Amino acid sequence: MITPFENKVWLSSPTMHGEELTYVTEAYETNWMSTVGKNINEVEKAIAKKVGVTYGVALSSGTASLHLAMKLAGESIYGQPETGKGALFNRKVFCSDLTFAATVNPVVYEGGIPVYIDTEYDTWNMDPAALEKAFEIYPDVKIIVLVHLYGTPAKIDEIRAIADAHGAVIVEDAAESLGAFYKGKQTGSFGEYGCISFNGNKIITGSSGGMFLTDSREDAEKVRKWSTQSREAAAWYQHEEVGYNYRMSNVIAGVVRGQIPHLEEHIAQKKAIYMRYKEGLKNLPVQMNPYDKKNSEPNFWLSCLLIDREAMCKQVRGEQEALYISEAGKSCPTEILEAIAGINAEGRPIWKPMHMQPIFRMNPFITREGNGRARSNAYIEGGCVDTGMDIFERGLCLPSDNKMTEEQQDRIIEVIKRCFE
Ligand SMILES: *Cc1c(COP(=O)(O)O)cnc(C)c1O
Repeated sequence: MITPFENKVWLSSPTMHGEELTYVTEAYETNWMSTVGKNINEVEKAIAKKVGVTYGVALSSGTASLHLAMKLAGESIYGQPETGKGALFNRKVFCSDLTFAATVNPVVYEGGIPVYIDTEYDTWNMDPAALEKAFEIYPDVKIIVLVHLYGTPAKIDEIRAIADAHGAVIVEDAAESLGAFYKGKQTGSFGEYGCISFNGNKIITGSSGGMFLTDSREDAEKVRKWSTQSREAAAWYQHEEVGYNYRMSNVIAGVVRGQIPHLEEHIAQKKAIYMRYKEGLKNLPVQMNPYDKKNSEPNFWLSCLLIDREAMCKQVRGEQEALYISEAGKSCPTEILEAIAGINAEGRPIWKPMHMQPIFRMNPFITREGNGRARSNAYIEGGCVDTGMDIFERGLCLPSDNKMTEEQQDRIIEVIKRCFE
């Protein structure tokens, strides 16, 4: 038996430093306790500068940022919708498939139809070959929503080239990847629209919050206006467009402002955690979540592992429960997650791909071969027929909290090793 931790080791929890409180207190003492104030202005400037874009608009969440980015992309391509219809009404949008639902829900808020694009093994992000296939099948699509999963940059050059060839824009979901680089530039700066999140478990946090990033002054102003109820420049409340209450609070911005100087430190800690797992698990039949070592430097937000196919014991997942049969020399995500939970640490399954979600069962799903739905019954026979499903089946997220000690991490590694005994 390995002794459980007295205090839970989290997947990824907020790490405060002190400056946060200074800025929050400043907001309080000067009474800027609203959605206006110096913290907001400073955070917008600092993040835009860091990421390498011209404008940042501070919002209440990453989801709000993605929502307004979808609306903006839709209106700029298809024009203003009729009242009551979303900007993407009945339009298809190509979306990353292996991701958190918040990447794609905003497509639905605007009436669009997500078309899911399968994943590649090199970075666990959108497969350029599958995207190319999707344009063969749906040549009229003009918007791509691209995520950088777990802080690892996608194959940006390949995806950009395909987007340009088809005149499509990219909405970049960099919610998990703030501070990650691809060929010397930061994620969030590659799409026409970039979105980041300051949710509690992200690499830096405001407890909540998000930001919209762009190089277009006009787009930044539109998003700022929409996020504050779409008031026109009149003395009274004058409205020509639908508005939202999506602006960041100056109190939240105080927390974010205090976190910004610590981004690089958090990334270094997360990278050390990733490397320690890599070293500690090197003799097991597993691999860490991969990245393109030549062109990219992830922010290592979450350390994940993928079990070799030959080393998987039998595991079955229903809609809500999972079962497995223990086997010598083999393991599975369910067994490892249970073992980790058994010592009071938090792991997590890989995001369940969107094309496997009951809510999106009718949405198209495209693999390199074409229609990914055509072969889906092979899953029932025990084989994984697409990459996203396979990574979900064999992968898991490990405790990746930057306050975890080396001793604690070693104990987690020991627990994982025992699963394979
Ligand atoms: C966290 C997250 C979001 C949403 O951000 P919130 O600030 O929680 O709304 C969107 N996409 C991905 C991939 C995320 O991980």
